[in-house]
Amino acid sequence: MSVKFRDLRVLDSGSEFAADLCIVGSGPAGLSIAKEFVGTGVKVLIVESGTKAEDLETQSLYQIENVGVPRELNHSANRYRIFGGTSHLWTGRCAPFDEVDFQARSWVPYSGWSITRRSLDPYLERAGENLGIGPHCYDERLWEQFKVAPPAESLNKAVVKPVFWQFSKHHNNQYEPARFGQGFMPENAPNIDVLMNANVTHLNTNAEGTKLESIEVTSLNGKQATIRAKAIVLCCGGIENARLLLASNRIVPQGVGNQNDVVGRFLMDHPGCVLGSFDPAAAKQVRDRFGHYWLDNSKGRHVYLHGMALSPELQQKEQLLNCAAYLETIAAEGDPWDAVKSLKEALKSGKITPEAYQGAMAVLTQPHTIGYGLYRRYIKRRPTITKADRVDLYCHVEQRPNPDSRLTLSGQRDRLGMPLSRIDWKISEQERQSVRRLAHLICEEFDRLNLPKPMLSEWLNQKEGWEPNFVDRAHPIGTTRMSDDPKQGVVDSNSQVHGVEGLFIAGSSVFPTAGHANPTLMIVAMSLRLADWLKFNYLPTERVVKLKQQVA
Ligand SMILES: Cc1cc2nc3c(=O)[nH]c(=O)nc-3n(C[C@H](O)[C@H](O)[C@H](O)COP(=O)(O)OP(=O)(O)OC[C@H]3O[C@@H](n4cnc5c(N)ncnc54)[C@H](O)[C@@H]3O)c2cc1C
Repeated sequence: MSVKFRDLRVLDSGSEFAADLCIVGSGPAGLSIAKEFVGTGVKVLIVESGTKAEDLETQSLYQIENVGVPRELNHSANRYRIFGGTSHLWTGRCAPFDEVDFQARSWVPYSGWSITRRSLDPYLERAGENLGIGPHCYDERLWEQFKVAPPAESLNKAVVKPVFWQFSKHHNNQYEPARFGQGFMPENAPNIDVLMNANVTHLNTNAEGTKLESIEVTSLNGKQATIRAKAIVLCCGGIENARLLLASNRIVPQGVGNQNDVVGRFLMDHPGCVLGSFDPAAAKQVRDRFGHYWLDNSKGRHVYLHGMALSPELQQKEQLLNCAAYLETIAAEGDPWDAVKSLKEALKSGKITPEAYQGAMAVLTQPHTIGYGLYRRYIKRRPTITKADRVDLYCHVEQRPNPDSRLTLSGQRDRLGMPLSRIDWKISEQERQSVRRLAHLICEEFDRLNLPKPMLSEWLNQKEGWEPNFVDRAHPIGTTRMSDDPKQGVVDSNSQVHGVEGLFIAGSSVFPTAGHANPTLMIVAMSLRLADWLKFNYLPTERVVKLKQQVA
């Protein structure tokens, strides 16, 4: 039997649901947990605000009030309220956090995780399967796997270390990243139900706020229902998890799990910025080295991107934050390889559009570019280098955890009467110092390696007014951070909300620090870790109970 989908809009108002495990949100975090329970006999109910198709009214529930650094994208555009969540928008770039990200560092206040990076290795491997990525390897050992000779002279790893990201691949379309939602869950999942058009609006605890008793859901056409479960996991994303705790203030006025006023604080992202730009006409050598690579194995082709990061030694020596840079290319119009793609599409559809005609001309008039591309693809086994208008050195930086960078509740409300999130995102001088140092070190290294240097951005030297050069990357982190100390964190090492029995959180809101790596691989790994913990300790399946008896 397959997953059963129900729609709250067509059910009787006042319905009650019961499950062993209720998962709120069906993005990478929620569905990774749900999949782990398929066929276990544990009754799982996934509660999802959206449906299988986009709905603008539902999407409007994500509006925010912004009072901090201007956001690059409106929050109703950089999170997606649909079955499968924001994975329908993401680019699919994956890398794990580094060892240094987990350490308590004297120069990074509130740093240090209560779990080790090493303990996540098995979960990172498993997460890779959900995301359709290649081997769990992100360093120079990859050269051998790419079957490419390493560069003759390597970077000075004591200051700038080589890093790689890889790109997620959809299980039946290698040009798309993994999309959770339809097709992600196995066909046969009789113990999994999904309730769609169901917006969680309140978490109901006992009078003391120490035990989660039920959750309230509402549809946009006014239907309401109550859900009870032994364990409830919030998987609503880095902003919404905190908003839900704070807005659940009817029984506990400060909000659920907010007895120490930590919920919503420490909001971080990966501020992104342009460190500098290369002359596109002279950047071939650097684009070749710090470009894309292919790894072919029994699971097909995996695409990797090569970049550079501040070494942990230098971070410690100069009291800097973790950050990494890579090349970002703005393609030029009339690139013949782009034209090849549109020609292929035209041939497939049988429609010769004006674009396809222009494409054919671009191919015919640029035989050298096509020839070089073929040489790269079939002889060098590397992707083609496209024609570029701009080649930027782009950077993502970890943020200094700051309790005043935070999300609170706005006076404005959404259509369901829930207060909007009021976002006061802050960036510190340490972020600017860190990216500035990385930019200079990359220039020094490129000088030594005889590679063309970028022209650095002037704002890097500005003492004031530099903040707008950073943009958020839709990676909200830290608002329900993990710590064994309830005064410093919202969830404990098992992702259970401190002092609230039965309530768990998954997603980037539990990360105490942000690293520089895009978050989803870590989100999925941490979600699998939570699923295992629930399976073996909180909701033991019959098999686990038997195993435990045998061991005893
Ligand atoms: C343009 C873009 C590009 C990105 N690229 C990358 C990338 O390259 N690499 C990377 O690692 N990350 C990337 N990300 C971020 C990535 O998409 C997120 O990290 C990831 O989707 C988070 O997963 P999640 O399950 O925690 O939350 P989401 O995917 O946001 O899922 C949350 C789910 O909760 C549901 N929900 C929310 N509120 C409620 C409620 N009250 N009641 C019921 N359901 C609710 C939503 O409908 C949604 O389905 C990108 C994001 C964007 C916008």
